Amino acid sequence: MNTIADRLQAVRTSIAKAALKAGRNIDTVILLAVSKAHSATACQEAFASGQRHFGENYLQEAIQKQADLKNLPITWHFIGPIQSNKTQLIAQHFDWVHGVDRLKIAERLNAARPENMPPLQICIQINVSNEETKSGVSVEDAPMLADAISKLPHLKLRGLMAIPAPTNSVELQQKQFRIVSQCFDALVKQGYAIDTLSMGMSDDFEMAIVEGATIVRIGSAIFGARSYAS
Ligand SMILES: *Cc1c(COP(=O)(O)O)cnc(C)c1O
Repeated sequence: MNTIADRLQAVRTSIAKAALKAGRNIDTVILLAVSKAHSATACQEAFASGQRHFGENYLQEAIQKQADLKNLPITWHFIGPIQSNKTQLIAQHFDWVHGVDRLKIAERLNAARPENMPPLQICIQINVSNEETKSGVSVEDAPMLADAISKLPHLKLRGLMAIPAPTNSVELQQKQFRIVSQCFDALVKQGYAIDTLSMGMSDDFEMAIVEGATIVRIGSAIFGARSYAS
């Protein structure tokens, strides 16, 4: 259980089990390998084991890795906090951006997305734990932001993303994911053509899948512990 290939296989098996338990088709869950703080070589190893979606939080680190791996057909997801002065490079270098939580950021990403690239795939970040420190919009404000984003031509609204506060309570964990999936269902009812629920990390992805996650973002369970925080 020491190589990236072994750990990747173990994570895939756990995802399959969780999907089965939830009565869901395994093909409805995408594994996003969160490679922040790990090397291009580590990504290459995961790629060799069939991994295609990679998630990064830190822009400069990600751009360097993308340059090192430019010959590999990888789908790159930006999952970190987004500052205004980073939007141009994010729009130029990524396929997906999770964690969009204000219109100003969406507008800047839209304006900076190169004409020759497909629309940037967007998830709106929902703040389910209502912690002051966490980013994300409230469930109440999500429809307004969804409406505005869906009008921006260089963005494609795909769904919602959340990072619930870690908890030892299984009930609370489930409740937090359920709040996001209910918000998702409400948007679908309002007519938004969205298909993505990005939620669940190494410690809670099984519950996230039970509650409807279609992208699980997993770092340490694949690549091992990181040498710096978050
Ligand atoms: C770091 C990070 C992850 C992966 O966390 P692990 O606990 O290592 O699986 C997932 N999502 C976001 C937004 C992250 O910042």
